[in-house]
Amino acid sequence: MIVTSKSQLVGLFGHPVGHSQSPLMHNTAFQHLQLPYVYVAFDVVPDRLKEAVTGIRGLGIKGVNVTIPHKVAILPFLDEIDPLAQRIGAVNTVVNANGRLIGYNTDGTGYVRSLVEETGLLLANQVVTLLGAGGAARAVACTLADKGVQEIRIVNRSREKAQKLADHLRPLVNVTALEPNEAEEAVKTATLIINTTSIGMYPNVEEMPIPAEWLHDGLIVSDLIYNPLETKLLTSAKQVNAVTHSGIGMFVNQGALAFERWTGVEAPVELMRQTVLAQLRQGGN
Ligand code: NAP
Repeated sequence: MIVTSKSQLVGLFGHPVGHSQSPLMHNTAFQHLQLPYVYVAFDVVPDRLKEAVTGIRGLGIKGVNVTIPHKVAILPFLDEIDPLAQRIGAVNTVVNANGRLIGYNTDGTGYVRSLVEETGLLLANQVVTLLGAGGAARAVACTLADKGVQEIRIVNRSREKAQKLADHLRPLVNVTALEPNEAEEAVKTATLIINTTSIGMYPNVEEMPIPAEWLHDGLIVSDLIYNPLETKLLTSAKQVNAVTHSGIGMFVNQGALAFERWTGVEAPVELMRQTVLAQLRQGGN
């Protein structure tokens, strides 16, 4: 990649950022389309977040992705928050519109876009059992509620977090927070199971958020985890002929939507997916 005086800077604010797949994914896409952008990962310690955001304006950085631990903490430092990001309560993409910093959340939309494209499901028919109630669950659940799924049930280790998320979603969708002893029935009667917990993520690849015996062939089983590309939950789902959906699609599509907000150009989604897949298969995490 040749950086010139015309190059525009975009990047990632997170801590740590050393393992991020985003720089390679975005820079490959910029190069492919011959767009004059460069994507850099900035390791921003929490105490310096405000200064880093001021730096976006000062340096004329065109935009950034925001990841752990800054997705919520960045909100007060921005000039405007898009309504969906406001409802989610977190920002993963910032656009610098002539010095005005606008916060978006493309995690939920990226997830739903990939879910629909890869499984062909009809959102309006889905009875969703959501495992987990953390940040990613919030983005996914708010977006699914927005898009009009039939019902959402939330199961989480900390019951009060599931209740809080359910209360937040209630105006939009038929939603309940379940007790752990109701999880089995909720999985068996769902059409779509979504694992938003980190259970099964590298290096704990032998772990599963629910017992394999609860899975059946009428289910779509979706896992937000993309390392490994196929979690034990998804392997078990395949064994009972359930439809499966892995987290790679969410990662690529959240990035593609951010790319489109910064550049105004349609992102080369398939190239971005192949780039991340190749990196993960080489053992990148
Ligand atoms: P988070 O806010 O820390 O939430 C973690 C969730 O997992 C919480 O519901 C937590 O339950 C639950 N959990 C963690 N360990 C558990 C255990 N041992 N037993 C039961 N529950 C457990 O994290 P996050 O940002 O939402 O991320 C969650 C997962 O989504 C991660 O695997 C992450 O890699 C993935 N993700 C993927 C993408 C993508 O692009 N594909 C994007 C974002 C996140 P408690 O509330 O009880 O603690």
